[in-house]
Order: sequence, then C-alpha cells, then structure tokens
Amino acid sequence: MQVPPDDTPLDVDRLRRQLLVHARHLRSAGIDWLPVATSPFAVAPMQPVTFPVAASESDDGREIASADSNGDELSIEQRRLALATLAAEVAACTRCAELCSTRTQTVFADGPVGAELCFLGEAPGADEDAQGLPFVGAAGQLLNKIIAASGFRREDVYICNILKCRPPGNRTPLANEAANCRAFLERQLELAAPKYIVAMGSCAAGNLLQSTLSVGKLRGRFHDYKGIPVMVTYHPAYLLPHRSPEKKREVWDDMKMLLTKMGRPIPQKA
Ligand code: SF4
Repeated sequence: MQVPPDDTPLDVDRLRRQLLVHARHLRSAGIDWLPVATSPFAVAPMQPVTFPVAASESDDGREIASADSNGDELSIEQRRLALATLAAEVAACTRCAELCSTRTQTVFADGPVGAELCFLGEAPGADEDAQGLPFVGAAGQLLNKIIAASGFRREDVYICNILKCRPPGNRTPLANEAANCRAFLERQLELAAPKYIVAMGSCAAGNLLQSTLSVGKLRGRFHDYKGIPVMVTYHPAYLLPHRSPEKKREVWDDMKMLLTKMGRPIPQKA
C-alpha cells in the first residue's frame, strides 16, 4: 500500500476500504486475529486486533490438523499462515488476463483450516465477486441448507472453488483458466487438509479428478484425490427452481452416502 506524501490529503475512506478487503482475504484464509505492532504513539497497552467475525474453529477437536493426510507436518497455525500467504498471492494473480481485469476481487475460501469436510465448487458468481466469499448468492443459500440438513454448521466446513476469479457473465471457466488456477487449488487443499471433499458440479469434479465424465456418471461412489475420498454431486445452482430442483433428492442420497462413510448419523429430513 503506497503511503502518500505529507502534502497529499489522506484518503481515509480508500485506506479503510483497502484494509477491509485485506482483512477479508486474511479472514477467508482462516486468520481471525492479528498482533498489533509496538508503536511510539501508543497510549494504552496493545491488544490483539480481532476481526469482526467470530472464530470459526470447531470446538470438538476436529480443527486439529490432519498432518498425516498429505504427508505434511505443519501445525494448524502454520497452515493458517501459509493459507493467508497463498490468499494474498491469489489476490495479486494476473495469470488470466480477462478474469483479473473484470473481477472486483478474488474469492479464496470460507471456513476453518483443518475442517473435516470441504465443499468444492466451480467459480465465484456476481454475489461472491462483490462480497469476496464463496457461495453467498442464491446457490450459496441452497448449499447452506444442504450443509445444515446434513448435520453440519457452515462455519465448520471449508468452502472453495476451482477458480478464484469470477468469469464474466458467469460463463463456464475456460480450460486454460482452470489450468492456470490449478496450482493454487492443489496447495490450498494440501494446507486446508480436509478429510473428505464434495465436488459440486461437472466443472469442479472434472477439474479435481481430471475426468471428462458427467456428474451422473461420477456420482454414487467415492473417488480419490491424493488420498482424500471425493464424492461428486450436483452443483447447488443446478438445483434452483428454474433449473432442475427435482435433482435435490439425488443430492440428498449423495449426502447420506457421505455421512455413512464419515461415520456420522443421518439426520431425519424435516
Ligand atoms: S482465476 Fe486463478 S489463475 Fe486466473 S487470474 Fe484468477 S487467481 Fe489467477
């Protein structure tokens, strides 16, 4: 961030916006507080700065890093910091010329490091691009219902996309864009270290598993991504009323298969 010369009026609103965007990127990477540096202007004892969102760690021990899931020995804190660094790298990425010129901001992830379950989607849409978080639009509301109906809390699962930038007009990501972002995704999953992945939609499933099969052909069994079981199901956007809401039943069947694999109870549908 460039500091203006002394005679330049300070644009406090702009600085505030930049800091909020930066904090949001850190928050999405799992960083929920920052130490305050010692300042000669300090008049009171320094306290950590806490982001205005509650810490999202699981309180049942599930946030402990599965350090053995990827052969990585990093602690949770090291993973958080590495993810924050990766999120900052993503925020500055210009590999896809069109996407980086049309995005409002990159969308890295939402959820705690070391979450047992990761939901993987395609790419940010308009709402996600505006808010800097994945799955906050109409499809996100439906994903929230799927998560809750399956007995999870949204704050306990890790949510991210194949692509970190919104394709204009919500078009399908191009093959070269997915390839450009692949290394970010691989490092992100390595550091987030989920024990299970739900790949939602053909783009996410095809990219993660390097498969050209349709969702219909991939669902109903578990696949493998670097030792992590992957379940494929339909993208929540596909289940919206104007598309194929009748597929919700199949998604619920998929979630029941996942819950059984995870050894979790299957909640009774309301
Ligand atoms: S989609 Fe990924 S690779 Fe492409 S510009 Fe955005 S962050 Fe970079």
